[in-house]
Amino acid sequence: MNLKYYWQGLLELVYPPRRVCSLCGSQTPEGKICNLCRQWVRREGSRPVCPVCGRFAPVRDPDFKPGICRACRKQRPSFNMARAVAPYTGPLRDAVLGLKSRGTLRVAAALGELMAGAVLREPAFAAAEVIVPVPLTRKRLAGRGFNQACLLALELGRVLDMPVNAKSVVKVRETRPQTGLSRLERENNLIDAFSVVEPAAVGGKKVLLVDDVFTTGATVENISLALKRVETEAIFVITAAGGTC
Ligand SMILES: [Zn+2]
Ligand SMILES: [Zn+2]
Repeated sequence: MNLKYYWQGLLELVYPPRRVCSLCGSQTPEGKICNLCRQWVRREGSRPVCPVCGRFAPVRDPDFKPGICRACRKQRPSFNMARAVAPYTGPLRDAVLGLKSRGTLRVAAALGELMAGAVLREPAFAAAEVIVPVPLTRKRLAGRGFNQACLLALELGRVLDMPVNAKSVVKVRETRPQTGLSRLERENNLIDAFSVVEPAAVGGKKVLLVDDVFTTGATVENISLALKRVETEAIFVITAAGGTC
């Protein structure tokens, strides 16, 4: 008997495959992502976005003007473009938080599938050559046991059939949690926190940077600055959940 199938069967006996939605956790006959969550993602993910940073238009803002957002007008980011599946709310927020705390592969697979859809919807992203996940420090990785951005990057790489390089960019020092800091504090908090240790893997290339959430964009901005130092040709950013203007 093939040992792999034996092992798989044993696993399914101990952990029967659950027919629950990978985003909201409710029972669903179809498994993976339930219809309600798919509808939610379709609706929220199609809100107008800033063409540069991908922040979503606020809900029901009569004065909202489409176009480049205030943050990008004030300071143009170092990355070319960022996009997200939908804003960081509702079932998407639950799924991202769940992935961060437990690293469930089922959730990573569902989010990876949605992120691949968002990448394919953006024509400019077709030029990307290599996927790079936002790294954790070695200490944080040892403590958590996994990097959620890396789980998403691997799923995305599998769906898009694109190579993933999780070693070229490293986080060299721990930073304070970003929540509760002002914009300036957040930017200073992350300066030189990232380093490109394999310049040949990303230099002269078009990189697709992957993270779970885009909030202020300070993390991807700082990685982009490090990538630009090794002359990365273009930097595209894709996250599961995005910010709001
Ligand atoms: Zn659901
Ligand atoms: Zn913007």
